[in-house]
Amino acid sequence: MTENISILGSTGSIGTQTLRVCELLNIKVSALTANSNIDLLEEQVRKFRPALAVMGTEEKANELKLRISDTDTKVSFGLDGLCEAAAIDGADTVLTAVVGMIGLKPTLTAISAKKNIALANKETLVAGGSLVMKSAEENGVKIYPVDSEHSAIFQCLQGCPDRKALKRLILTASGGPFFGRSSEELKNVTVEQALKHPNWSMGAKITIDSASMMNKGLEIIEAKWLFDVPVDRIDVVVHRESIVHSMIEYTDNSVIAQMGVPDMKIPIQYALTYPERIECDVPQLDLTKLSSLTFFEPDYDTFKCLRACRKAIETGKTAPVLVNGANEEAVRLFLDRKISFTDIGDLIFESMSAVPLKEITSLQDILDADIAARNFVKSSVSSV
Ligand code: NDP
Ligand code: MG
Repeated sequence: MTENISILGSTGSIGTQTLRVCELLNIKVSALTANSNIDLLEEQVRKFRPALAVMGTEEKANELKLRISDTDTKVSFGLDGLCEAAAIDGADTVLTAVVGMIGLKPTLTAISAKKNIALANKETLVAGGSLVMKSAEENGVKIYPVDSEHSAIFQCLQGCPDRKALKRLILTASGGPFFGRSSEELKNVTVEQALKHPNWSMGAKITIDSASMMNKGLEIIEAKWLFDVPVDRIDVVVHRESIVHSMIEYTDNSVIAQMGVPDMKIPIQYALTYPERIECDVPQLDLTKLSSLTFFEPDYDTFKCLRACRKAIETGKTAPVLVNGANEEAVRLFLDRKISFTDIGDLIFESMSAVPLKEITSLQDILDADIAARNFVKSSVSSV
């Protein structure tokens, strides 16, 4: 059970919910980080009194330093600051809830410093899965999933000591706001429509990823690395109600599902208290109040991003890095209203064929491929 935590991305959707869990469980907080939300980080520092607070830039860090000069909290900034927070003395667990590939180096730093990882930041595992899992094994640290689907699978696997009996993983997907639409209908959807998730309240990037189903594609890759299961044994089923958070199937075709109200505090808390279960600040699931639970095949033709992720992980090498990097850039451009919603999937596929693939032997290979994919997307859009 976690006693002392460092939270990367404490001002975000996962970060703030994690602090709520820490408060209820009396977990000591050693480091907190934000990119630009200085007001909220100041508030969090005053409440949790961490040894270190990190802002995205030097300018913001200087402002925070002035604001909290009456506290003992040290202030750092940028990627070095995130790595300092990841390796901070005293913390036994680092919860990674920054958004995007920026989380990879701090995660590797935390693992080298022998911290257990509570992992929300899926882009880290999509791009750097091979390095992260190898390093975790070498350093004898655990990676506990925070993502609800992976937490569900992790929970189902507690009853599966014999991994040979595991036949397949079944990830559930809400389908997002555009479930049932055709490619043609998706062309002109607006940023506001894409930001309206039916069941979960999350940060902007993952909300767009959910609308495009990129999120589920990233989760297939995340599941492959976390559970060491080949992708042809990872299926996706659309489940509109987000009550069944995912399932595993055994060789005898018995299926185990994990259910609960859609509230991230359950998976966050389980990642911090594993193997213990403790009362959680969420409503009880009342099955009698649900009219039905529905399940559908995902539409791989319309939701290109989902198809792109499958192709990337089957292709291997730097392909998953490319789809992730291209997506991060494309989502930014969509949110800035520079491209259309369906351009996201097109740009991801184009980047996979335009940027040469390489074997991954080091962190630098991943960082190079990530930059190449982002540059490809930027130049494709500026040349239109
Ligand atoms: P948010 O956008 O709400 O929060 C992101 C956090 O990271 C904020 O603290 C933000 O700071 C910080 N941040 C953003 N960019 C940078 C940067 N360049 N450098 C340093 N810090 C940065 O995201 P979510 O909490 O929704 O998601 C976080 C991660 O968890 C993502 O990888 C997402 O896919 C994953 N996840 C989220 C779920 C959810 O329910 N939200 C569910 C499952 C997974 P600031 O506030 O200052 O901008
Ligand atoms: Mg998820």
